[in-house]
Parts: sequence; C-alpha cells; structure tokens
Amino acid sequence: MLVLRSIFFALLLPGSATVVIPYFILSRRGVPHWDAIGLPGVVAVALGATILIRCIVDFARVGRGTLAPVDPPRALVIRGLYRYVRNPMYVGVVLVLLGEAALFRSTDLLLYSAVFFLVVNLFVILYEEPALRARFGEPYEQYRRSVGRWIPRRNAMKRAGLIALLLILDAPLPAQMPRTLSANDQRARDIFEQLININTTGSSGSTTVAANAMAKRLTDAGFPAADVQVIGPAASKNHNLVARFRSTGTQKPILLLAHIDVVEAKKEDWSVDPFTFLEREGFFYGRGTMDVKDGAAILVATLARLKQEGYRPNRDLILALTTGEEGGSDYNGVQWLLANHRDLIDAAFVINMDAGDPVILNGKRLMRSVQASEKVYVTFKLEVHNPGGHSSLPTNDNAIYRLAAALGRLSAYEFPAQLNEITRASFARWGQLQQGQLAADMAAVAGPTPDTAAIRRLSSASPLYNAQLRTTCVATELAGGHAENALPQSASATVNCRMLPGTPSDEVQSTLSRVVNDTTVTVSVVTAAVPSPPSPLKPEIMDPVERVTKRLWNIPVVPVMETGATDGLYLRNAGIPVYGVSGVFVDINDIRAHGRDERIGVQDYYDGAEYIYQLVKAVTSR
Ligand SMILES: [Zn+2]
Repeated sequence: MLVLRSIFFALLLPGSATVVIPYFILSRRGVPHWDAIGLPGVVAVALGATILIRCIVDFARVGRGTLAPVDPPRALVIRGLYRYVRNPMYVGVVLVLLGEAALFRSTDLLLYSAVFFLVVNLFVILYEEPALRARFGEPYEQYRRSVGRWIPRRNAMKRAGLIALLLILDAPLPAQMPRTLSANDQRARDIFEQLININTTGSSGSTTVAANAMAKRLTDAGFPAADVQVIGPAASKNHNLVARFRSTGTQKPILLLAHIDVVEAKKEDWSVDPFTFLEREGFFYGRGTMDVKDGAAILVATLARLKQEGYRPNRDLILALTTGEEGGSDYNGVQWLLANHRDLIDAAFVINMDAGDPVILNGKRLMRSVQASEKVYVTFKLEVHNPGGHSSLPTNDNAIYRLAAALGRLSAYEFPAQLNEITRASFARWGQLQQGQLAADMAAVAGPTPDTAAIRRLSSASPLYNAQLRTTCVATELAGGHAENALPQSASATVNCRMLPGTPSDEVQSTLSRVVNDTTVTVSVVTAAVPSPPSPLKPEIMDPVERVTKRLWNIPVVPVMETGATDGLYLRNAGIPVYGVSGVFVDINDIRAHGRDERIGVQDYYDGAEYIYQLVKAVTSR
C-alpha cells in the first residue's frame, strides 16, 4: 500500500509541478521543441529526478509515509540526502525545472521556476517548519540547527561530491554513511564498543575485566583512584565497579545502577559475532547492547563528561556496575555489596538502567516509562501422596486424579484485583494514549473506586493488563507416578506466583490451600519471596524526569509496575527506593534482549546518552 501511495503522490505533486504545468506553459507558444544547445539541461533534469526518487524512497522506507502533506512520514526523516539539506525534494524539483528551462530555452519556464522556488520558500518557512517543530520537538530543532535549509553546510560539503557521483552512477547509497560524531557521542560510542567486546557471560567471561576497563575510563577522566573501586569476593572472576563522584553537599547520595554481566550467546546461533561490536544499518549489534551494557556505557560516559566539564553535583553520585543479574555468575553483585559494603552504595534512591525503557511503537516514540515497582516472585509446590498399588486394581483414591482436580480448581480461581499508587498512575497515563472503550476502562480503574466491570474487561483484554491488576499464580511444572503399571504414589505440580508488592506470601499460600480445597494436597514453598515494596513517586525523582523528558522528547511519563523482577528488588528490600529510568528507546515489537542478534538503534543510543546526562544533572542540581 505504501508503495502505491508513494507512487500516486509522486505522480500527483512533483509530477504536476515538473511535467504538467511546464507542458501548459510551453504549449502556449505552440508545440514545445528543444534543440541541441539546450542539451546540458538534460543533466540537470536527470540529477533532479534522481534526487526526487531517492527522497521518496527514504520517506517510505524510513518515515513510513509519503511526500503529500495529507499522508506525511510518521518519523522524522534525517538520513539519505536529508543529511545534507533539509529540503532535498524541492531542490530536486527546482533542478528539474531549471533543466527543462535550459532544454527548451524558455524564459517563461525560467520565470515559473523562480516563482515556484519563491512559493516553496514561503510554504516551508510559514507552514512546514513550524509544523515539524510542533510534531517532532527537540530532535527536529537539533536537526534544523545542524543542517541547512537549501545549501549543504561546510562539513557536509566534502561528502556532497561523492553523493553526486553515486547518484549519477545510480548506485545504492551505503545505508549508513560515516557521520561526524560530537566528542561526547564519540566517547559514549567508544565506551559502549569496549564493553560489548569484553565477554562477561557467566560461562566464559569475566565482569572483572569489564569493571577494570570502566575504572580506567573514570580515572582517565579525572576521578581520584581512591574513589574508583573494583571489588568482589576474592576467589571470584566477576567483580563489580563502585565509583563515587564527590560533592560538598550533605544530602544522601544517588546511586546509578547497571549490571555488566550478560546472558550467554552462542556464535553459531547469531548472524553476527555476539562479542564484536558492530554498527550496521542504523543499529548497534552485540550481546548486551540492549540488556544492559548500553546503560552501563552511558553511565560511565555521563560521569566522565560531567567530571571533565568541572560539574559540581549538589550531592554525591555513586556508580555501581554489578555482576550476577542474569544469574550466570557465581553470585549477585548487588546482594553482595549490600551485605558487605553497604556504606559504599547506600543512597537516598537508585536510578536503574535495567528497567523503565522509553518505548517505540510502530515507529513512533510513544512514552517514557519509569519502573517504580515490581511484582514479587514466589514459587509453591502442590503435592499429593498415596499408598499406590497395582494398576490392575485401581482404587477411588488416586494421587494424579486428586492433583488434577486441585489444579482444575486453581485454574478457575482469580485473585482479587487491587490497585496501588503506581498501577493507578500507569492506567491513568496509558488511558490517555488509548481510544474508545479501552481508554474509558483504564480511566475507570485509575479512579478512587475502581469500576468492577472495567476491571473485568481489562483483565480479559490482555494478560498484560490482568497481571497489573492482581496477584497471579500459574501451574508451570507437573510430575507424578513411578511406573506405567503402578498406581501413583505421588503427584506434584509447581505453581509460580507473581504477587502484588505488599502481599504477604503466607497469605497467598493459605489462599492456594483454600482454593485447592483438599486436605490431602499439601502446599509448600519452593522459592521464598523477597519482598520488594513499591518506590514512592517522589518529586525529587519524578520532577526531573518529567522536565528532561518534556525538554528532549515531549512524550508522556508513565510510572509502571514490572511483572518481572530486576536487581532493584534487593535494594527496595533493603529500604532504598529504586526507579528504572533507562535512556535508550526500545521498539516493543523488536525486543531481542536475551535473544539472537541483540541490537539497539544507533540514534536511540546517542539520544539516550544525552538524556541520562541531562537527567543526572537535573537530579543533582535541585
Ligand atoms: Zn538486565
């Protein structure tokens, strides 16, 4: 469809400007004719047409839209020729017109070209630019400041010759031309590359190597060696980095947290080497690019940048890059630090890179989530024992039947819906991004007395909403019997629960017993809960987040309760509030964390680095 729309509008708009109107102008003075003297005009026509086609393709491919104002791109298109001037499409049209004027040696056409250019200028200045500014905000402003309206600026000029050559040869442009990075972007990229290239898997890697490399980055940037420590249990190859940016302030410090261990990655499963940083077609590839070496690199780059700028925070900043979050390591770094060096990481609150991603949906930057709560993980075992016997003489009492009946009752049970500060705020903000019944239902459950019909509809609309509304328990494993010709002596099922924070786990256990409603079925704890209270939405974190988000991205901030769990739970459990505020946008339809060919967007990474830099300044200057 997009292809057809693109062709249709291309014929309609530039088509009428460059063919239909010139034809009428020329034919007013008889049949149009050209002669050999005007032949060089053909070159201009060809160049202009090539530019036009290239732009239309970029609009469709990158912006998912067409050149018509009624069907515009949904994303800001700043690649391809748009890196050199902001309006290459009009440049293409004007080139075609000038070429035609030369070819037909027509002063009328020359005049028409001039009028066309004047009208386009007015349209661009009075309508298009304000509209783009309103639509895309700060990213457009930055683009406008660095790229000229009609004429390529100096550093773009060098490449312009190459571009012209490529266009004439009609060769496809390299998808990602090397771009000139700012010093800050270059540093953020170098650190990221270094981290990705260091294997930090539990099996064959070492977080000590990564921690040492990051420590050197910080001391090189001017941090005193005494404030940068690489620590962990003596026998482990997986140490953690803890660094402190000192201030003269007296408020409790803020802890910046990311883990530097990664999930295993098998080279043969990937289409690229998971431990070699690669930039390709607008993405950075490698294990950990999304989870969460991007965040770790951004934190190191931010502290180095602040230090070099001579920034003075109004309270201490602590950086902790930890091991063992993915479970492959020999221990968990956050737990170990809390148990052995709490003084090093004790903080008023934590900003965690490993949760709370800004979200892209269908190519559009949708919202900035802030993870302020997570559900609590607990696992139970349901078990039935029976004397058993020979299977040729079945009895009424059978362990497998009893367990099956118990699980049947459990499957029909639903824990009561319950909302807290975070989930109320989530539904209120989500609702504003939805339409129709869904929007109304979300607003209804966010209210002081949630509407039960709305809860019912939301729960059945999506497991995602259901999990936000209540504690869930689900059977995940099943075992029973010992021989095909024997009555089962035992049968058991694993039931994994995700409790709303604040729910006591023995309350869930007794609910399970009650629902199972069979005293021969025992319910016992397999994995005990680590309580993780929600972190209050306090102004000292939420105000800076709102402000920086508005300034850079102009999208809504949505507090969320995560249904999974991160290292944040140990800190919350220890009484330190944690806010997941990652800077790097993730496309929720392209999440490759823990998977093959893990990647994030190149521009999303640089934008994330700028976001975290500004956020860290904002929380330490209020
Ligand atoms: Zn992670």
